[in-house]
Order: sequence, then structure tokens, then C-alpha cells
Amino acid sequence: MSNAQVAVVTGSNKGIGLAIVRALCKQFPGDVYLTSRDPGRGQAAVAQLQQEGLRPLFHQLDIDDLQSIRALRDFLKEKYGGLNVLVNNAGIAFKVHDTTPFAVQAEVTLKTNFFGTRNVCTELLPLMKPYGRVVNVSSMVSRSALGGCSQELQQKFRSDTITEEELVQLMNKFVEDTKKSVHEKEGWPNTAYGVSKIGVTVLSRIQARLLNEKRKGEHILLNACCPGWVRTDMAGPKATKSPDEGAETPIYLALLPSNADAPHGQFVSDKTVKPW
Ligand code: NAP
Repeated sequence: MSNAQVAVVTGSNKGIGLAIVRALCKQFPGDVYLTSRDPGRGQAAVAQLQQEGLRPLFHQLDIDDLQSIRALRDFLKEKYGGLNVLVNNAGIAFKVHDTTPFAVQAEVTLKTNFFGTRNVCTELLPLMKPYGRVVNVSSMVSRSALGGCSQELQQKFRSDTITEEELVQLMNKFVEDTKKSVHEKEGWPNTAYGVSKIGVTVLSRIQARLLNEKRKGEHILLNACCPGWVRTDMAGPKATKSPDEGAETPIYLALLPSNADAPHGQFVSDKTVKPW
């Protein structure tokens, strides 16, 4: 088994994920895994960083595929005996003018952004080593979407006692409500991406609370963040930040020093804790 520290970034063959791997290769004192659902795209990204003189490693990971997540889990367990840094970056968004029916957009978006991210956490959080750092890439859109929820839903999503099971039920209810075209009547905002990112932010709050309850003394810090508006295939060329600038807040959270005890369980943007 290797004694090296190890970091994993999901969805890192392009965009912000690739920029996070680039920065980790420069700043993290250990092995850095660029992961991609498509090995060809992943290896091409590794080659691109090698051209820059960096040495990322590669592992396949499709967060929609439980077998793929478990293969990575087993690999990390066997080779490193755990994990030091996990950045849950992989995500999807339909374009604004996409004509796919809203109910389909809701199901597909929630599947990756919420349920896929949750499955990665379920399998990999138990592997986190003491002083581990977990960064869940959410979005400011989660805050605006929260504001578009009914008072009842807002109260649930802001609750300090909501359980993961209750959150999963609510995310499933959103998808079901869109299929019946009753989501707005039921208090949901009209954004599948926004609801999926509410899920990511609230999941992060719950997971941080569970770490406090069950693994106190291990000094693991877990946060959700927004990278800003970043020029990638997702956000387009008009966005204000370069991918490397978009990586700054996720990297700040991934590399919080070992004597830090905060932020933890927060929503962070521009390296600053924002109210939820
Ligand atoms: P992007 O350029 O579209 O990159 C998304 C990455 O996620 C790609 O590598 C993609 O892989 C991967 N991915 C998608 N589904 C996956 C799956 N099932 N398994 C594994 N990987 C998967 O988008 P981005 O702008 O860099 O976004 C990165 C994260 O930042 C996302 O969570 C996004 O919601 C968030 N974010 C972005 C912005 C922004 O302005 N760009 C703002 C706020 C939050 P493929 O190449 O195989 O599709």
C-alpha cells in the first residue's frame, strides 16, 4: 500500500474540474486523480496537463454508475487505504433553450447532480482519512432557487435536523411533481438545475453534521461551494471567470490547512461563507 496522500476530482476531463486538477497538481503534496466517465476524454486531459509539465493520474469514474463508483472505492482502499481530498465537481445542465420536456430535464439533471453526487459520497466518505477535505461543487443558483421555493420547502431545506432520507424523498418528489406538472403548485421553482443544486448544498450541510456527530476528532472538513460564473462548455464564453479562476474557491476548501476547524458545513463563494 502506498503511503502517499491522494486527491480525487470527479468530472475532471474539462472545465472547472480540469482546472481543479491542474491546481492540485501544483499545490497538493500527493497523488492527484483526474477522473472521467470516458477514458478517452480522460486520457486526453491527462496528456494536456502532462504537456504543462504536470503529473496527474487517471481513473475512470461515471457518477451515474454505482459499479464505476465502487471500482474507484475499492482501488483507493487497496492502493492508499483511504482518501485525503475529494472534490465532487461532476455535473450537468440543460441549455436554457433546450426543448427536452421539463420532466425529463428534471429526472436527468437530478440523477447526476444530486443522486450521482450522493452515491459518490455514500461510497467514498467512509474512506476519508483524518484531516480529510471534501468539496461539493454546488452553485449560487442553489440559493436563488431556494428563494423561489414555498415557505414550507424553504423551512425544510434550511432545517438543522433534516435527514438525508428526508432530502432524498424531497428530491424524488420534485421529479414526480414535474411528471404530473404540479411542481409549481407544490411550491417548487421552475429550475431543475437549481433544485439539483439545492440538493447538493443541503446534502453537504447534512453530511457535515453527521461528521460532527460520528467522527468528531478526525478533523474532516466538508463544504459546498460556488465556483462563480465560469467560461466552460456548461456556462458558455460570456461568463466572467476563466476555469483557473473558477477553481480558486474549490481549491481553497480542498487545501484548508490541518489546523483549520472552519469553514465546515457551509456554502462558500469567493472564499467567503454565504448565508443559506
Ligand atoms: P463542464 O465544462 O460541462 O464540465 C462538466 C464535467 O462533468 C465534465 O467533465 C463532464 O464529463 C462531467 N460529468 C458530467 N456527468 C458526469 C457523470 N455522470 N460522471 C462523471 N462525470 C460527469 O461544466 P463546468 O462548468 O466545468 O462545471 C463543473 C461544476 O461546476 C458542475 O457541478 C457545475 O454545476 C458547477 N458550476 C459551474 C458554473 C459555471 O459557471 N460554469 C457555475 C456554478 C456551478 P463529460 O465531458 O464526459 O461530459
